[in-house]
Amino acid sequence: MSDFKTIALALDAHLSEKYSTVTVTDDTWWVVVGNLMVKAVSVAIPWIRTIIDTLDEEHSTRSVTLPVPGGEGALIVYSSAAVSDGLQHCVTATHEHEHARVLKTQPDLEVLVDYACAELRSASEGRAYSCGAFTRYLLTGEFQTADEIVNPLNHGYMLDRGDVAFARSMVMSDLASMRHGAMPPHEVCQVVLAFLKANFPDAIRPIAFQVHGS
Ligand SMILES: [Zn+2]
Repeated sequence: MSDFKTIALALDAHLSEKYSTVTVTDDTWWVVVGNLMVKAVSVAIPWIRTIIDTLDEEHSTRSVTLPVPGGEGALIVYSSAAVSDGLQHCVTATHEHEHARVLKTQPDLEVLVDYACAELRSASEGRAYSCGAFTRYLLTGEFQTADEIVNPLNHGYMLDRGDVAFARSMVMSDLASMRHGAMPPHEVCQVVLAFLKANFPDAIRPIAFQVHGS
């Protein structure tokens, strides 16, 4: 049985290659983000300033996925909390790569989603938290409640109760799928499950998703 840290590093590398991301953590993030900001100035992207401010205050607990200005792919900055624990690293890698997936296909849309419209932002985060919850379920066999899964949305995402309820209803739908032994209908869930089946089959806890169960 592989430990979560081993799985996290391999899963992160796999997702990073598939969705063209650069991932950084505490030690390097300011340097990389600083370079991106310099580039961003020329293409006038005010939202990156907002993100930098957020990171500055909450970096120890908040991970974030940033579009690379004028470029392909995304930059993922992992918080120290996200990577200190192997299981949490697996969950966060899944969450952030769901954002990266959208960026890879719809760079302009994702900017709008994250920073202009609260309803779309809640949908985007609901989807990402669902994908992360699916990875956690695969690796532990334990269900979280929808409230636990969307709880982070109550702080720092600038979402009101209605927005959080909207995200929660999306998560509820995905939890129902999982309870029936079905994969939530998101590409990243499919990618994570296929990766675990191919590389860490013994780490998959729910029988319905094990290699011999399909
Ligand atoms: Zn997110």
